[in-house]
Amino acid sequence: MTNISEKLNEAFNNQIRKELESGYIYLGMAAWFEERSLDNLALWFNKQAQEEFSHAMKFKAHILERGGTVHYQALAEQKQDWNNIMEIVETTLEHEKYITDKIIELYDLAQELKEYSSYHLLQWFIEEQVEEEDNASTLIDKYKGYKNDFNFDHHVKRAE
Ligand code: MG
Repeated sequence: MTNISEKLNEAFNNQIRKELESGYIYLGMAAWFEERSLDNLALWFNKQAQEEFSHAMKFKAHILERGGTVHYQALAEQKQDWNNIMEIVETTLEHEKYITDKIIELYDLAQELKEYSSYHLLQWFIEEQVEEEDNASTLIDKYKGYKNDFNFDHHVKRAE
């Protein structure tokens, strides 16, 4: 039995694509760092990519719990040519702010449709985005503090 409206189901499928595309962006950034032997930064962005994958799976699980239909959409190719580290860390923060806006749009839609059962999931994502934006802005602050890329790389650690 379906317990989720078609409209919210579709919006969640769109969000799955956005989370996977976020992962795709971060994989490209990780490769950029790997090419330059900035291994801690590469690890940071690879872990971020994995986190995006888990975000997509959280939406998938919720859709299925509500008796909806999961549709994995085509992913768009993402930018992979970066000029410098600052461009990457600033893009990361901008991108997470964009994702926060998308999550808030979903929350608004769930309220409009009176989809009470999805509030908790979206609340979780709103809190998760606070962390995501904080991680990205911490990266910018740290980068500003180190003049040398390898020094910066040496000081980037990410909890499991
Ligand atoms: Mg995400």
